[in-house]
Amino acid sequence: QETIDKIAAGEVVERPSSVVKELVENAIDAGASAITVEIKEGGISLIRITDNGCGIPKEEVPLAFLRHSTSKIRSAEDLMCVHSLGFRGEALSSIAAVSRVEMITKPADALTGTRYVIEGSKEIADEEIGAPDGTTFLVRDLFYNTPARRKFLKTAQTEGTYISDMLEKLALSHPDISFKYINNNQTRLHTSGNGKKRDLIYHIYGREIAAALLEVNYKGEYFSLSGYIGKPVINRGNRNYENYFINGRYIKSSLLSRSIEEAYHNFLMQHQYPFTVLYFTFPEDTLDVNVHPTKMELRFGHNQEIYKELCDVLFGLLSH
Ligand code: ADP
Ligand code: MG
Repeated sequence: QETIDKIAAGEVVERPSSVVKELVENAIDAGASAITVEIKEGGISLIRITDNGCGIPKEEVPLAFLRHSTSKIRSAEDLMCVHSLGFRGEALSSIAAVSRVEMITKPADALTGTRYVIEGSKEIADEEIGAPDGTTFLVRDLFYNTPARRKFLKTAQTEGTYISDMLEKLALSHPDISFKYINNNQTRLHTSGNGKKRDLIYHIYGREIAAALLEVNYKGEYFSLSGYIGKPVINRGNRNYENYFINGRYIKSSLLSRSIEEAYHNFLMQHQYPFTVLYFTFPEDTLDVNVHPTKMELRFGHNQEIYKELCDVLFGLLSH
């Protein structure tokens, strides 16, 4: 089982940012309204994630670290947590296989919490402890027992930037959740969670971009859309500033990117990479989401129609 966990970990846990992503998504699933991520040395020596979500009942704790455990999934349903993001059930077991994990958790209705320690898939402690409501994960010494994988990590600074970029996307996709990111004792991101998208854009991208936005509100045949696009004066050098969220998730799609870029091209008569923060809602039955351990693939039901509709909406907005 240990070996299987280590191999599976290779799929889920590529670098510190993948650990952060999985743990933050779990916190979101747990209904948290505030999530704090703290890292040291690019997340290689320490990742600490605290949430105020539903917590894990004492007897469920060891199950949460089992891979693909059906009893775990049943008990997860009992928790009444909303499982919109994860349902593969292998993140915690994978992380615990390649690091030293300490978890402290307490559901609001429990009198005491649980402290659980697991290192390289070996349970070290499972004990009662006083704790605030919610869950804290400490992940130390990532890849301490898989030196070959550790060698593939970049510098602490680069790994920290990957985490920062990802938390920005997560914060943008959840305007109602307050995110705090602390890198080596310095607060790098602190969103209010007040739900206002424009405030978020100001906070993350600064005054210049926030001052040159066009608001989008559209309800069409194939999708509805809200959010902001940058005025054509904001030309970015690459696609990194084309943010869009599909039914609540940050997903890259070349179809949407090309359509957005064509709208700008049609307006400007030249190519540019725009700034966008667009929230799409598609009917679930027109989306085919193929969840691979590390990347996500998305297929739409009506590619041509969606491409044209989006391009027309944005062109109309730019021309106004
Ligand atoms: P999955 O998210 O696919 O179910 P994970 O391995 O990521 O699998 O998590 C295992 C389980 O542990 C979750 O289903 C959930 O019940 C519980 N869990 C993990 N993190 C948290 C958290 N921050 N708050 C509450 N429950 C959690
Ligand atoms: Mg998960």
